[in-house]
Parts: sequence; structure tokens; C-alpha cells
Amino acid sequence: MVNNKYAFFEGEFVPIEEAKVSIMTHALNYGTGCFEGIRAYWNGEEQQLYLFRMPEHYARLHQSCRILLIDLPYSVEQLGNLTIELLRREGFKTDTYIRPLAYKSQEGIGVRLKGVSDALALFALPFGRYIEKEEGAKVCVSSWRRIYDTSVPARAKCTGAYINSALCKSEAEMNGFDEAIVLSRGGDVSEGSAENFFMVRNGVLATPPVTADILEGITRETLMHLAREELCIPVMQRTIDRTELYVCEEAFFCGTGVQIAAIASIDNRPVGDGRIGPITKKLREMYFDIVRGKVPKYKHWCTPVYET
Ligand code: PMP
Repeated sequence: MVNNKYAFFEGEFVPIEEAKVSIMTHALNYGTGCFEGIRAYWNGEEQQLYLFRMPEHYARLHQSCRILLIDLPYSVEQLGNLTIELLRREGFKTDTYIRPLAYKSQEGIGVRLKGVSDALALFALPFGRYIEKEEGAKVCVSSWRRIYDTSVPARAKCTGAYINSALCKSEAEMNGFDEAIVLSRGGDVSEGSAENFFMVRNGVLATPPVTADILEGITRETLMHLAREELCIPVMQRTIDRTELYVCEEAFFCGTGVQIAAIASIDNRPVGDGRIGPITKKLREMYFDIVRGKVPKYKHWCTPVYET
């Protein structure tokens, strides 16, 4: 049951039923849209909804639009204000997922990016877990490879690129796994189907570099900061081989949707002792406190929706 009521569409807030596009729309035919996924977390004690790292998400939307030649005539601040207004109209008092979508709105035939019209839409939905088993997911290495930068830009969050994610995720689920780890074209670890990847090896937290065809995740950046600053753990952005997945001490996925999901096994081999590891556990606990606006030091990452 979808229980959201509004969308921002063609420059105004409209009932969600009215936010419809033609079947001739460029983005629908060619996958020429860019989007974001932003979470807002409900803090019951404060009766407040907090958007997590919203400016960073809108800065990335601008980057994606630059790559895809989409004209986005709203600043990061304006996009933030539209988001707050949408959430106030909805009046959600629960964890929420916000989906901004900038897309080629031209109707007709022709695949070029330049000289065609663009549009922005926003909607929001109450949202819980993305992976059921966040405390220990069963993961495989996908037989699909991650899109690569000289073909489909991986650091732009383009709608069309999610064909790759959908193939990886579906194959994993159809084979009885919760998620997939996706290798780059060259065979190194890139990321999950829609989340970034970390492992702990010899006490060092490691994640593939931004040149490994990953989406440059905001959660990834958040966790690298927290591991270094709060847990004093060394963090490396480095190439990760497939077989390192079989001998690491801990592994987890992170992303706005997935939050932090511990990985219990990879290709049916237990990660560590198969239970959530100490570093993953600490990062998860810290993350969930921070996103709900409970940690004063990091409250600047949280934007309140409702007036106090
Ligand atoms: N990689 C992909 C392909 C994704 O779709 C996402 C989710 N946006 C991520 C990584 C994680 O990014 P973030 O932490 O910014 O949500």
C-alpha cells in the first residue's frame, strides 16, 4: 500500500496521481534520468524528522546532471527547501525515503542529450529496511560485471545504469542469496548491486577506490570518517581481489537504502565466524544514533523537517 499523497512535478506540488509522464518521454525510452535516494529518520523523543546529509545528496545530483547534460535549474539549497516542503505536506512521522528525479522529459524519438527538455520530480515514501537480514546477509559474487566509466558513467546515478543493478540483484535472489558483490570489468571488487562494500582485513578497514566504477557513496564517506575519527581504525581505499572476500575478518554493505548491512557469508563461505563483527557492530550503532540526530557532534549532518 502506497500512502504518500504528493509529488513535486512540473514546477509545483500536485496530488501523486497527477504526477504522470507520457510513454513518449525520453527518460522512459532511453533511461536518461538521474536520481537520488535520501533518507529521513524519525526521532520520537524530539518529534522531529531528520534528513541525513541532504546537501551532499543534492550536490551529487548536480554532478550526475552535469555528466548527463541535464539542466537542473535549482540550487542545492532550493532542492533542500522543496524536499522539506514536500515532507511537511506529507506530515510523515516515520522513517522516510525521498526520491528526487531529474530527467529528459522531451517527448518523441531521438536519443541525443543536447537540446532536449529536462524536468525535475520529487516524491517520498515511508521506508524501512532494504535488506531484511541487515545483521547478516547471505551474499554471492555476481556473474554480471559492474558498468564501467567509459561505457556508462558509474559515478553518475543514472536511471538507465540500474539495469546493471537489477540484473545483479535478481540473479542473487533467484539463487537464494540476499545480495550480490559485483566485480569491475577487470575482475576487482567494485560494490554491491546498489550499495558500497567494505571489508576488514588484518584490522584495516578497506573499500574499493572511487576509480573502481563505484557510485561515490555518501554513506561510504560517512563511515570512512567515523572509522578514522571515532574508532581510530585505519581506513584504506584500495583494490580488493575476489579471494580476499574469502579470508577477510568482517564485511558489510553500506548505502542510504541498505544502511549498514553485515555480511554473514560470501559464496557460501562464512565471513569470520559468520556473525556480525565488532567493527561492523560499532559502526552500525554509531550510524543509527547519528542519523536520528542523537549525537550533538554530528547534528550538522541532520536537517530538521518540522518547525520547532
Ligand atoms: N552504489 C550504488 C550503485 C547505489 O545505488 C548506492 C545507493 N545510492 C550506493 C552505492 C550507496 O550510495 P549512498 O551511500 O550515497 O546512498
